[in-house]
Amino acid sequence: MTNIVTVSHLSFEYPDEHVVFNDLSLNVKQGEWLAIIGQNGSGKSTLAKLMDGLLEPAGGQIMVSGLPVDEEHLGAVRNQIGMVFQNPDNQFVGATVEEDVAFGLENRQVSREQMGPIIEDSLKAVNMLDFRERIPANLSGGQKQRVAIAGIIAVRPQILILDEATSMLDPRGRKEIISLIQTLKQQEDLTVISITHDINEAAVADRIMLLNNGQLVLEDTPDKVLNNPELLKNDGLDVPFASQLAEQLRKAGVSLPDQYLNDEEVIKWLVK
Ligand code: ADP
Repeated sequence: MTNIVTVSHLSFEYPDEHVVFNDLSLNVKQGEWLAIIGQNGSGKSTLAKLMDGLLEPAGGQIMVSGLPVDEEHLGAVRNQIGMVFQNPDNQFVGATVEEDVAFGLENRQVSREQMGPIIEDSLKAVNMLDFRERIPANLSGGQKQRVAIAGIIAVRPQILILDEATSMLDPRGRKEIISLIQTLKQQEDLTVISITHDINEAAVADRIMLLNNGQLVLEDTPDKVLNNPELLKNDGLDVPFASQLAEQLRKAGVSLPDQYLNDEEVIKWLVK
C-alpha cells in the first residue's frame, strides 16, 4: 500500500519553547483507518495541525499525497484534508445546514448550479437531507457533527482527520458517527486518521498508534494494542470496564476470543 502521509524526522516546539516533537517519523497508508491514541498532552492535536499546515515544523518534513506541507503547497494540501474537531459548535459558518455545506464549495469556486446536487448528495450521505433548512445551532451534537462531515465530504478530500470528533457526543451519537465514518470510508475511498481517547473508536481502526510525550511508543492492530490493559493504563488511558472484565475472565480460564471485545460483545459472551 502507498503512503498518503509521511512524517519524517519531525521536530516542533511551541513559541514558549515547549518541545512537543523531536525526531518523530511515521506513515499513514492510503485507504487505512489509523487511530492515534495517547494521554492528554502527548502531541496528538499538534500532529494533526502540523499535517494540515496550521503549524509549521521546526525541522523534518511532512508529505501529504506526494506534496510537501509548506507555504508553497498549503492550498493544495488543505484540499486533500478535511478536519473534524471536537466541538461541533465551533465549526459552523452558514445560517442554515444547506448554506453551511455550501461554504466549502463556494471557497472552491464551484458554480451555484453544480453546487445543488453535491450538497444534496453530501447531506444524504450523512442522513441529514431532511434538515437542510434547519439552523445548525439548534441541532443535537451528533447531528452537528454529521453536518460538519457533510461539508467536508462535499469538497471530496482524500484524508479525513477526526480530532476527538466524538468526544462531546453521548454514547449513541458517538456510535452513529463511527458507523457513518465506516460507511463513508468505503464509499468515498477515504483515508481516516482519528485522534481519540475513546477505546471503542480506536477499536474500529485498521491500525493504532500510541503516542507518549511526542514519541511513537507502539503501532499495531487494535487486537494487539487494546488487549493490553497494562500498557493502556501505563499510558494514562481509560481501559473500558468490559475490556478489564474480559481480561479477568480469560485469566480465570473462560474461553473468550482473543480479539478486543467491546462492552456489548463481552455482555453477549457472559450471557452465553
Ligand atoms: P494532545 O492532543 O495529545 O492532548 P496537544 O498536541 O494538544 O496534545 O499538546 C501537546 C503539548 O503541547 C502539551 O504539553 C500541551 O500543553 C502543549 N501545547 C498545546 N498547545 C499549545 C500552545 N498553543 N502553546 C504552548 N503549548 C501548547
